[in-house]
Amino acid sequence: MRACKLCGLHATRTQAVPGVGPCPADVLIVGEAPGFNEDRQGEPFVGPAGKLLDTLLGRIGMSRADVYITNVLKCRPPQNRDPMPNEAEACSPYLKRQLALIKPKVVLILGRHALEQLLPGQGSISRIHGSLVLRGEVAWVPLYHPAAALHNGSLVADLERDFDNVRKYLDRFLAPPPAPEPPPVAKVEAEQLRLL
Ligand code: URA
Repeated sequence: MRACKLCGLHATRTQAVPGVGPCPADVLIVGEAPGFNEDRQGEPFVGPAGKLLDTLLGRIGMSRADVYITNVLKCRPPQNRDPMPNEAEACSPYLKRQLALIKPKVVLILGRHALEQLLPGQGSISRIHGSLVLRGEVAWVPLYHPAAALHNGSLVADLERDFDNVRKYLDRFLAPPPAPEPPPVAKVEAEQLRLL
């Protein structure tokens, strides 16, 4: 990705922004494209939209360290314009490969461009945001893009409500962590009981 020249965006980028997070990961978050800050820092969602995303993750007891975060486009479109179809098409093998390597159980789809790329023909984001789409082994959740909520404050409440639903989906689809080992003393006592 860092050396990619499959579309014209390589000519204007500072650097490609492949994504960040653990691999594999139970949860994958897919946004639209790097913006000004992401292009400079090489990391997705580090600007104002990223701060809102961090707050929403915190609301459901998660942090960005728990999830893999990437975008449909790995390079910033000039002036943050919308991705063009040929750019999304050229970049799509990278996202497909990331899905195969990260093996998420739940994918959070941020905004209409990611929705169109990941679940084409599913309908508008305003209709299906917050709902659960089961496809293959994966649970997909379309959500408003945090940047849209920064422009239109009335969407913040929708995002908060939808993230509360995301928490419920995660509880349903992610196995609980394994029970902690019993403390050593209890182990010793159990061993002694067995010997009696
Ligand atoms: N908006 C996005 O879609 N992705 C980013 O990485 C930052 C802002």
